[in-house]
Amino acid sequence: MANRQSPDATGFKAENEIDLVLGNANPNPARAGCPSRDVLTALARRERPIDDPAYDHLIKCSPCYREVRALQQSSAAQANAVRWRMWSAAAAALVVLAIGTALFISSRANRSTGRTEVTSGQRPQEELSAQLDLRKFTVVRGDQKPQDIEPLSLPVGRVNATILLPVGSEIGAYEVQVLDSDLRSRVSTTGAAELREHVTTLQAMLDLTGLPAGSYQLAVKRHDENWRMFPLRVVARQ
Ligand SMILES: [Zn+2]
Repeated sequence: MANRQSPDATGFKAENEIDLVLGNANPNPARAGCPSRDVLTALARRERPIDDPAYDHLIKCSPCYREVRALQQSSAAQANAVRWRMWSAAAAALVVLAIGTALFISSRANRSTGRTEVTSGQRPQEELSAQLDLRKFTVVRGDQKPQDIEPLSLPVGRVNATILLPVGSEIGAYEVQVLDSDLRSRVSTTGAAELREHVTTLQAMLDLTGLPAGSYQLAVKRHDENWRMFPLRVVARQ
């Protein structure tokens, strides 16, 4: 005795009561009045109008019903497989994104706030302070060339920088970056500038920990204004 729910030669598998009934009730061994395979495929894909007489044949012919259902079941399996592959790819992308975001956030946290860099067994890092006067780069007198001006100087470490902005600078939120000789950003932070004793003064925390001593550029930018660059020397502490 054949199990009526097991897949037959067409791959048909009864999934519900209707399948059980229509898949077995009308054997039609002579295949009398059966439409072509193309018509059955079109029926399986619901490409024919719902009042198409070919649908009536399926109710009267179990072999055709089983063929149509087998086609639908295999395309559903394919659709599921495609959905699974897409979901897997999307999930993998999300994992990569999550890891990337976590790394980005932790590197930003390390760089800009430094609050997460206290790891087990380490003391919080000493905070240094420094004042950078950018006004001297815009006031160039007579025989003095800009390149003659002594570069700004910052020590390696976490530096709370008080930056005196060039004359005419406006108050507000600023972005600050330290660029290396290849103009790659090595430190990125933000700060707020306010008027202190008639000088627009920007306060920013620059984490230069681990930065090799050498020549850099200090880049400063307010909102969507252009970056302004100033020569900077990072010096190792004694
Ligand atoms: Zn038939």
